[in-house]
Amino acid sequence: MPVADDAIRCDACPVLCYIKPGRTGSCDRYGNRDGQLVRLDPHVMLEQAQSRGDALVPFLGKSEEWDGSLIRQPVSDGQTFVTAIGAGTTYPDYKPAPFIISSEVAGVDMVTVVTEGIFSYCGVKVKIDTDRHLGDECSTVRSKGEAVGHVTTGEYGSQMLSLGGVRHLTGGSRQEGTTTCDTLLDLCNGKAVELEIDGGAKVVVQADKAPIVGGVQEERMRVGCGSATIGMFAKQWFGKVDEVVVVDDHITGVLSEHQAGKLLGVVETGIKIKGRRSTPGRYFKVAEPGTSWGGTNITDPLTILGPFNPKFAKPGLRLLMVSTTGEQHGYFELDEALRPIARELPAALRESVGRIRENCEPALCTVLFMGGAGGSLRAGVTENPVKLTHSVRDALTRVTCGGAPVYVWPGGGITIMADVSRMPANAFGYVPTPALVAPIEFTMTIADYAKLGGYMDHVRPLSSIHAEDGHRRVTPRADNPWPLPSKKDTRR
Ligand code: SF4
Repeated sequence: MPVADDAIRCDACPVLCYIKPGRTGSCDRYGNRDGQLVRLDPHVMLEQAQSRGDALVPFLGKSEEWDGSLIRQPVSDGQTFVTAIGAGTTYPDYKPAPFIISSEVAGVDMVTVVTEGIFSYCGVKVKIDTDRHLGDECSTVRSKGEAVGHVTTGEYGSQMLSLGGVRHLTGGSRQEGTTTCDTLLDLCNGKAVELEIDGGAKVVVQADKAPIVGGVQEERMRVGCGSATIGMFAKQWFGKVDEVVVVDDHITGVLSEHQAGKLLGVVETGIKIKGRRSTPGRYFKVAEPGTSWGGTNITDPLTILGPFNPKFAKPGLRLLMVSTTGEQHGYFELDEALRPIARELPAALRESVGRIRENCEPALCTVLFMGGAGGSLRAGVTENPVKLTHSVRDALTRVTCGGAPVYVWPGGGITIMADVSRMPANAFGYVPTPALVAPIEFTMTIADYAKLGGYMDHVRPLSSIHAEDGHRRVTPRADNPWPLPSKKDTRR
């Protein structure tokens, strides 16, 4: 809408920026180009590489750029998928979505409705592969000093953060909302973000990259808990050492008491572990959480041992203590007073410690975008929003984010989760309300679209999209399923 000074008003979000010629709006997504409101980033199309006989390559760093040509492949064969990245946003939502594209897939007429959704209700779940203690559960996670989330329950070999969400975006100070939005945007677009946990560690998180905890890059996640490690490697230790303790903040394992040791015939060693005995050979809380041995705060493993029981222990008894990643290890022999004395690790045990390390997978950060698409966004798809929810629930409508697969939570609404590293680079944007802008596509048969009250008069064929509209063509990640249904899917 033109206003004074040749500025135009952008109506793609509630901010309603006035944009002067040659300038961009607050979110940098829209600009005034010669008096026209334009979406500045190219609109991303996925194209199946197999159709051209090309090798499939991952998005990041290797996406094929738009070469200026028209879409070369026949558009009816399901080889091209219109994503919502760069498609634009409609506001208010009762307007039809920016692109409602029809195509023929395996002889079935399909429709894909795409929009860059504005998500006030969204956040990220971050999985950080490390044993190191990052902070207590429920501790506040900060970015640039602002509260942006909290530590949630740890998982097997990983620490978990829950960041963002409507309370941080809208329920705190303006600065808290803005910083939360910036943090989510950077994480979702694959950038590195430094986070600080109250009473805990500083950690640099980047999707699909190793975490950096307290300035040290994590290399590997643990092979298992202490008890699992005993179970896995007991046979390799049998006969080479009398006792093994696998130090773990959660479940420390002791070979001679563990079922695996018992089955092999390992004899009692008189070892005493400080901690709470759960079941034979499995101890909880041997130390405080920390960033050292097995995610504990100990740097000297002997601190978790009490005096050996002289009824079973003998001078010369051989003891291996190792962490769950094999990163830390110590070998000891009891002296005449049954005190463990550090000795060099015998060659026979070096291999087993190396085997623990070998079985540890590379440590990575995983960033899952989680958003609620069950609100007003649905009105851009259908005049009767609940029908879209039902259609998704009934698996008649497939939901994707930038063409990447999503997990739709059971229950009410359309609450989705998507691994951001499976999406094309820079798929996310923001608006200063503040809220995250994320691509979302709904694909269904045209018959189902009509049934759910879709905007049939806005459906346009894929062939109506031309190069001059400013599109970018990329090949999808090789391990992503193709977002359009296959012949098998459409046979029903
Ligand atoms: S913030 Fe962006 S989308 Fe919203 S009105 Fe301004 S330019 Fe348009």
